[in-house]
Amino acid sequence: MALVNEHYLKLRAGYLFPEIARRVQAFTKTNPEAQIIRLGIGDVTQPLPPAVIKSFHQAVDEMGQAESFKGYGPEQGYEFLLDRIIANDFEVRGVTLESDEVFVSDGSKCDSGNIQEIFAVDNVVAVADPAYPVYVDTNVMAGRTGKADEKGRYHGLYYMPCTEANDFLPEVPSHKVDIIYLCFPNNPTGVVAHRHVLQTWVDYARQNQAVILFDAAYEAYITEEEIPHSIYEIQGAKECAIEFRSFSKTAGFTGTRCAYTVVPKALLASTKSGETASLNKLWNRRHTTKFNGVSYPVQVAAAAVYSDEGKTQVRALIDYYMQNARIIRQTLSAAGFTVFGGKNAPYIWMKTSGGMSSWDFFDLLLAEAHVVGTPGSGFGPSGEGYFRLSAFGSREKTEEAVERIRNKISP
Ligand SMILES: *Cc1c(COP(=O)(O)O)cnc(C)c1O
Repeated sequence: MALVNEHYLKLRAGYLFPEIARRVQAFTKTNPEAQIIRLGIGDVTQPLPPAVIKSFHQAVDEMGQAESFKGYGPEQGYEFLLDRIIANDFEVRGVTLESDEVFVSDGSKCDSGNIQEIFAVDNVVAVADPAYPVYVDTNVMAGRTGKADEKGRYHGLYYMPCTEANDFLPEVPSHKVDIIYLCFPNNPTGVVAHRHVLQTWVDYARQNQAVILFDAAYEAYITEEEIPHSIYEIQGAKECAIEFRSFSKTAGFTGTRCAYTVVPKALLASTKSGETASLNKLWNRRHTTKFNGVSYPVQVAAAAVYSDEGKTQVRALIDYYMQNARIIRQTLSAAGFTVFGGKNAPYIWMKTSGGMSSWDFFDLLLAEAHVVGTPGSGFGPSGEGYFRLSAFGSREKTEEAVERIRNKISP
């Protein structure tokens, strides 16, 4: 018999979202009349902006004509998209990049999950607790950890607890780690990192020759002027950081699929024998070997995000979700709940009622308010006692959901 990759068997069963789906299904079976409102999974609900759809259509038509048909494109993405990314997402913030430092892909989930492949198995990996589950699970699959303990902490990973006591900001490790996952604005807590916080991380990484994997999937939700959108706005970051960006939450591409990853050429790592190697070259090798590029129409659609029309429409989309965030935050806060986030991110991180466990609170909210959220403990042990609500619903449903919570649940 063929042997399996036994590291997969270490993964904790009942991944968060399937378990949520299971409980909701069980509830609706016995309560078929309940009008459930889902503020759980981090998926957008508003359609793609008209400027994006227009370009998307035009590109599809081009594919139907012999003169404009496109077969395989460059795996790293078309120049027309790379140029727009660099000009609009980086140059306006004082960051210069060359086009071979940007890799267009089909998602930041994929990229933040695949990136660990270009690093040795014996690196020490640091993750925030709570965190986006992809960072942890992909390192488990690769064999960079031992088994999970009863709290769900994998042996060998360095956890950085993010709690009320440290304003949900991970603290710089007390000893040397090699790879650090950071996500700002954060999923699930909704917190952001100011310039001095990111500078501390860049300084740590450079002193310890560590690499920061910076997930900026929610940068478009930053509303406060002084908060950096890219880690490369911090001096020295090009020598120590990889950045992930996505059109998913920015422009509603969760079902259309387009993202990109920045791997600066100044970023080096080492072989065991002490020779330096370019991570840009390694990622390019991986990307061109295992990926065949994002489809042409999707890249044209993504480029339209940067047109004048596109920018205006995307801004309106984000404002819409951020107004939802404000409604959730203000209503629950006025009702006496303790809430965090929701100011520069589409997530509200709330404390459960009376120190209840995250899953008990999930069940209570489902049973009493018919509202589905995400248990904080699903993002890591330090998320226990917290609960995530997402601002990605429609205005009407969001308003109704918080009304129900206010009326049915005591803080
Ligand atoms: C949604 C999300 C992404 C984006 O994933 P895609 O694969 O680009 O859709 C990346 N990181 C975090 C933390 C997210 O929540």
